[in-house]
Amino acid sequence: MEYIILSNQFRLGELLRSETATRLNIIEQFTPKAQIINNLSSLCMGILDKVKVKFPDMVITSGYRCPVLNKIVGGVSNSQHIRGQAADITCKDNAALWRFMKNQNFDQLILYKDYIHVSYNGYFNRGEIIINK
Ligand SMILES: [Zn+2]
Repeated sequence: MEYIILSNQFRLGELLRSETATRLNIIEQFTPKAQIINNLSSLCMGILDKVKVKFPDMVITSGYRCPVLNKIVGGVSNSQHIRGQAADITCKDNAALWRFMKNQNFDQLILYKDYIHVSYNGYFNRGEIIINK
């Protein structure tokens, strides 16, 4: 399942990866439903591909989170990570990454100290920007 192609730049495994889920053997983290995979594909094609092309060293520190994992890592209960609509990303130059991201089409963009949270919701993108450093 992890080799399913989501977009030009990403396979499913990269969006499911979680040290915590691996360590605790949370199976549902690695067996998402089709709707989740569709959302992850939309997230990748809609924005993450563009970011990866511009910033090849960009890594996803948290993509999809099954409800159990989301609870363990302290995510908010309505987190878009649970629906496969959000990713936390980082690279060597997060300031440049932020400047680039701000001009893209996204649902929500949140700047944290060490990473950027981005969500994508297709036609329903709000373009909301939050600074949370
Ligand atoms: Zn996030």
